[in-house]
Amino acid sequence: MGDQETVLASEMEKWWLRAQGRRFIDVTEYPDLGKVNAQNMGVLKVHFPALEHGERLKEAYEHVSDAGPRADLAKFTSFYTRYYRSESGRRSQRWLMDQVEGLADHFATNTSISEFKHDWEQRTIILRIGGANASRTAERGVTILGAHQDSTSFLPFLRSPGADDDGSGTVTLLETLRALGASRWVPESDVEFHFYSAEEGGLLGSQAVASAYEQDHVRVQAMLQQDMTAFVKRGTTEKVGIVTDYTSPALTDFVTRLVDAYLDIPYVRTKTNYGASDHASWDRAGYPSAFAIEAAFEDCNLQNIHTSRDTFDHDEFSFPHILQFVRLSMAFVVELSGWA
Ligand code: ZN
Repeated sequence: MGDQETVLASEMEKWWLRAQGRRFIDVTEYPDLGKVNAQNMGVLKVHFPALEHGERLKEAYEHVSDAGPRADLAKFTSFYTRYYRSESGRRSQRWLMDQVEGLADHFATNTSISEFKHDWEQRTIILRIGGANASRTAERGVTILGAHQDSTSFLPFLRSPGADDDGSGTVTLLETLRALGASRWVPESDVEFHFYSAEEGGLLGSQAVASAYEQDHVRVQAMLQQDMTAFVKRGTTEKVGIVTDYTSPALTDFVTRLVDAYLDIPYVRTKTNYGASDHASWDRAGYPSAFAIEAAFEDCNLQNIHTSRDTFDHDEFSFPHILQFVRLSMAFVVELSGWA
């Protein structure tokens, strides 16, 4: 990652950053993230495949609907807070786990779901969808889609619905599972869906997972993070923000090809100027990662996130916009892991 400023933030300073709407990476727990992969130059891929699953994807898009995201988000935002060190954040995680399990049951291939335990209550959820061809997984590595399940407010005891941040990315992944399960999709190589805990604590959950994968020499083909997929600012036209900092340029170019081929709206390249979400943990670990967000960064929902106003009952919160990110997610995993 180079020369980003390292700030030794106390817990109070982290709250202050959040209060300013800032995001940050707390690197104190994993100072060595990326050191093993740096020795192993084979990890970073620079070529991603030509698109070849258009016909099946377009059929699969027939299964995408806003019914699931609406129902899921109503429940997910009803927890008082999904703060990662709270009892309700643990309950929201258990509810999310049940949804993921229910959706995994519809797959015609092996799936396994696990809780990645942390030093706090809420756990990261990892769903693995087994590829039909183990040698393909060995060649390519696993394909990962991520979103973060926790929410936060200026102070942890305040109401924190987190509809956009990152309820929207979470339900984007759930609808992706729903539509791919209904399409009887079986990947050739392994795919994982990650629902991270403690993104708001400074990417703590995703750093723990990325560090474990690096230490275990897990090959990762590509990781795409979806954090805030719903907001369309009044007076702007719908776009997908493709983040160009703390991401892999080659994978980012691949994601722009997916937007051109499969979405109804264009993309705009944008910068967040700091490690804005969990893709930055994978980038720091030396794995190819990309980040898609609801708009150019300056048009994102920055005035409402991390407050009790981050709800979905207002006219800038768009379910059709979320469904464009569902299409992107489906295309990402199908084009990178195949359709057996
Ligand atoms: Zn977020």
